[in-house]
Amino acid sequence: MGTQSDPGGDGAPRSGARLDIHHRARARLAQFADAPAGTRRVHLLVLGAYLAAALFMVLGLVADWLADGRSASPYLVAVAIGTVTVSQLALVRVRVGAARLALGWGEAALLVLLYLIPVWWVPLAIFLGVLVSMVVLQLFGDHRPVWLMLYNAAAPTVAGGCAALVAGLIGEPYRSALTARVTIALIAGAVVYGAIAMVLVTAVASERGGARFSEVAARTFTGKAFMIVGNVTVGLIIVAMLCVGALWLVALPPVVWLLHQSYAYRMRLDDERRGWRAFSGATGALNRLDEPEVARAAVGGVVRLFMADSAEVLVRQPTGELRRYSGGRDAVFTVGDDVPGTVGEPGPARAAGEPVTPPGCVITRPLLVGGAEVGELRIHFPRPVELSSREQMQLAVFGDALAAALHDAAAHQQLRALTSRSAHEAATDPLTGVASRDALLSDGAAALAGLDREAPVALLVLDINHFKEVNDTLGHAAGDDLIRITARRISAASRAGDLVGRLGGDEFGMLVTDLAVDGWRGAGADAPAGTEPALGQALLRARELADVLAGSAEVAGVPVAVEASIGVAVAPAACAMTELLRRADIAMYQAKRGGGAVAWYDGVSDVASTDRLTLLAELREALVAQPPQLVLALQPTVDLYTGTPIGVEALIRWHHPRRGELRPIEFMDVLENSELIAPFTRHVLDEALRSAAKCADEGIPLPVSVNLSPRNLLSRGLPNEVGVLLARHKVPPERLILEITETVVVPEFRVVTEVLAGLRALGVQLAVDDFGTGYSSLTFLTRVRVDEVKVDRSFVSRMVDSPEAMAIVRTTVDLAHRLNLRVVAEGVETAVQKVALTGLGCTAAQGHHFCAPVPAERVVPALQSLIGSAGGKVIPLRAEGAS
Ligand code: C2E
Ligand code: CA
Ligand code: CA
Repeated sequence: MGTQSDPGGDGAPRSGARLDIHHRARARLAQFADAPAGTRRVHLLVLGAYLAAALFMVLGLVADWLADGRSASPYLVAVAIGTVTVSQLALVRVRVGAARLALGWGEAALLVLLYLIPVWWVPLAIFLGVLVSMVVLQLFGDHRPVWLMLYNAAAPTVAGGCAALVAGLIGEPYRSALTARVTIALIAGAVVYGAIAMVLVTAVASERGGARFSEVAARTFTGKAFMIVGNVTVGLIIVAMLCVGALWLVALPPVVWLLHQSYAYRMRLDDERRGWRAFSGATGALNRLDEPEVARAAVGGVVRLFMADSAEVLVRQPTGELRRYSGGRDAVFTVGDDVPGTVGEPGPARAAGEPVTPPGCVITRPLLVGGAEVGELRIHFPRPVELSSREQMQLAVFGDALAAALHDAAAHQQLRALTSRSAHEAATDPLTGVASRDALLSDGAAALAGLDREAPVALLVLDINHFKEVNDTLGHAAGDDLIRITARRISAASRAGDLVGRLGGDEFGMLVTDLAVDGWRGAGADAPAGTEPALGQALLRARELADVLAGSAEVAGVPVAVEASIGVAVAPAACAMTELLRRADIAMYQAKRGGGAVAWYDGVSDVASTDRLTLLAELREALVAQPPQLVLALQPTVDLYTGTPIGVEALIRWHHPRRGELRPIEFMDVLENSELIAPFTRHVLDEALRSAAKCADEGIPLPVSVNLSPRNLLSRGLPNEVGVLLARHKVPPERLILEITETVVVPEFRVVTEVLAGLRALGVQLAVDDFGTGYSSLTFLTRVRVDEVKVDRSFVSRMVDSPEAMAIVRTTVDLAHRLNLRVVAEGVETAVQKVALTGLGCTAAQGHHFCAPVPAERVVPALQSLIGSAGGKVIPLRAEGAS
C-alpha cells in the first residue's frame, strides 16, 4: 500500500521494495513520535475510531450469528458501497487554512445504507465506499498518501457506526417499510451521523490545517446544518422509492443535482462573505502610523484572512536592510532586525535554526509603492495551498494597502524624527549646548511642579559684565568664545539637580532646587539679617559661581577678565518660573548697578523695574520733552578743611509725568543698555556745561563733574562731541571733570584707550568714580591717567566702625597722594566721618553733611551759602600736585 503514494518505489526489486516499505514505516513511526502534540492526538483519534468501528461490527455480527438473524446480501452490500462512493465523489469543497474541507451527501447515503444492509455492516460499507472513492480520485490525478485516505475515511466510518447503533436501537430500518418509527430511526441516525462527522472532521481539519477549532466549526456548521436537512430529505425520498420500486430512482439525479448546486452556492457564499469580512477587517487594521504597528496588524490580519500558519512582513529600512516582523496564530509577534538576504528569496531571510518551509507552503507578495519596493509579505501554510481567485485578488489588494501603509508609516517616522530633532534643537542652545531659554523655563516648571509647594528654590541669573565691549572690540567670534567659556564654567559649577540654561545674549540662568539648609551661614555677613536659611544658601551658591567664573579667559588671543553679575531670587516652588526669572533679573540688574558680583531680589526695587520696555519708550520721549523731564541736580564737592565748594557733580533726575521724580538707580541701567545712552550723555553734558557757564557768570567758576557710562567710552565720537559742547558754552576744558567707573577696566580695548586719550587731549579732567568697588582698582590707576579718585560711599559710611573700610580709605588716600591725584570722599553724612577723613589726610568730600544735590536752578544760591559759611573763599579745583 505504501507504494501507492510513492510512484518511485514501483520499479524497485521486491526485496528492495520491502526494505523500502520497512524503512518508510520506521520513518513514519519516528515521525509519529516526533510529531507535535496536536498531530499525535489526530493519530490516536483515527486509530481509536477504527478500533471502535471494528469492535462494533464484530460484536454485531457475533450477536446476529448467535441470534441466527438475517445475513446481508453481498449484492446489496456492493450497492451500499457504491452509494457511499458516489456520495463521496460529489463533494462540496472548501479550504480552511491549509486543510480542505469536504462536505458531502453522507446523510443521504447513510439512510440508503441503513435500508439496504444490516446496521453492523454500515461502518465497513462506509469505510470501503470512502476508500473506493479515493481510489477513483487517485485515478483522476488527485494523489494522496494512503495514510491521508485512512484519515479521511475514519470520520465517516465511526460516525456511520454510531448512527447505525442509534437507528438500530430506535427501529429496525433494514429493509423495512417506511413506518413512522423507522422514519424517526432514520432521521435520528442521520442527525447523529452528521453531528459526529462534523465534530471529527472539524477536529482533524483544525489540528492539521492549522486553524482554530471554533473557526473551522463556525465555517462547517452553517453549511452543514443546511445540508443535513437536505440530505435527510433526499435520503428519505430514496428509501421511499426503494420501498415502492427501484425504478423510480431514475427520477432522482436531477433533484440531487439541483440540491448539490444550491449547497455549493451556499457554501461559497458563506465562504465569500466571511472572506470579505476578514479582508475588510484586515485592511482597515492597517490604518496605523507606526511601522511595527502596521506590520503587526498585517501579520495578524493575513493569518486570519488566509487561515495561515504564520506570516512575515519584511520591511526595507532606510539603511537598505530588511526588518522582519513575523507572527502566527499563537499571537506571538517577533521583530528581527537586520535580516540578511533580499526580497524574493524566502530562504535566507529565515533565521538560522528555523525549519525551512517546503516549497508551495509559502505565498509571497512583493510590496510596491509607485514601483518602488518597500518590502515583502510572506504567508506560511503548514502544507502547500492554492489560493482561490478571490483570495488572490484579496492578497493583491491587501499587499498594496500594506505597502501604502508602510510607506506612510515611514514618511511619518521621518516627520516624527524631524520634529523631535527640531524640538531638541529648540531645547538646546546651539552655541553652548546648554538648555535654551524656553527649555529652561519649561524644564524648570516641570522640576518645580515635582517639588513640595513650600520647598525653597533659587534662580540665579547671570550676566557677563562688559560683554558688549568684548563683542564690539574683539568681534562676534570672540564674543561667542566668551559665551562658550562662560557656559562651560557655569556647567562645571552646577551640581546634580541644577538646571542650567542660556537665557539669551550673555545671560545665563541656573535653577537650584535642593537648597540644603545646613551651612547657609557661610553666606557671610552680606546675607541680610533675618533672611531665611535658603537665601543664605542660594547666595553661597551664587558666590561659588562667581568665583568659578572669575579669572581670565583667553578670547581671540586676548586675555579677558570674566566677571559676571549674578542676581538671586529665592521663592517657594509654587512660584512660576517666569516670575522667578523676572525677580532674578531685577536682582541681576541691581548687582550690575551696585557693582557687586551678587545681589538678591528683595522686592523693594521691583516696582520701578516692572517694565523696562515701557521705561525705555518713556525715556525716549523724556529726552525731547518740553518742559524738560530729564533735569540735573547738582551736588557741591567741598574742601574738607574749609567747607569751601571746589566743584559740583551733575546728577540726573527724571521728573516723570506720572511716577514723579525718579532717581538714576531706577532707570540708568535701562538707559545704559540701550542706544539712548549717547543722546542722554550729550544732554547731561549740555546741561552741566550750561550750569557751569552760569556759575562762572555769577562769579563762581567751579568745575562740573559729569558721570559717564561705560558704554560712552566705546563711542569714538565722544571727544569731538565734548569739544563741541565746551566750545558752545564757552567753558574751558579743565572745568569739566568726566567721572568714569573702574568697571570699564578694559584698557585692552583699543577704542577705550583711544577715547580716553582723545578726552585728555582736549584738556578735560578725568576722575575714577566709586573707587574700591571693582576688582582691579589699583591696577586701574596704573593704566589710566586720571586727575581725581572718588572713594566709594560704601567705605566712607563704614569706615568709622569697620577697620577694613578704614584701611581701604587710608590706602586710597595714600595712593592718591603718591600719584599726585585729588581724593574726594563720597557720601559723607556725619561730622565723625568728616573728622576721620581729615585725620587720614583726605582733602575733599561730597555728601549730605555738606550739601545734598540741589536743582540746577538753585545751585548758585547753594554755592553762595557754602562760600559764605566757609569765609568767602572759592578754591578752584586743581590736582593735588598743582596746589
Ligand atoms: P555717583 O556718581 O556715585 O553719585 C553719587 C550718588 O550719591 C548720588 O546718587 C548722590 O545723590 C548720592 N549721595 C551724595 N551724597 C550722599 C550722602 O551723603 N548720602 C547718601 N546716601 N547718598 C549721597 P544719585 O544721584 O542717586 O546717583 C546715583 C548714581 O547714578 C550715581 O552715583 C551715578 O553713578 C549715576 N548717575 C547719576 N547721574 C548720572 C548721569 O548723568 N549719567 C550717568 N552715566 N550716571 C549718572
Ligand atoms: Ca559720580
Ligand atoms: Ca560715586
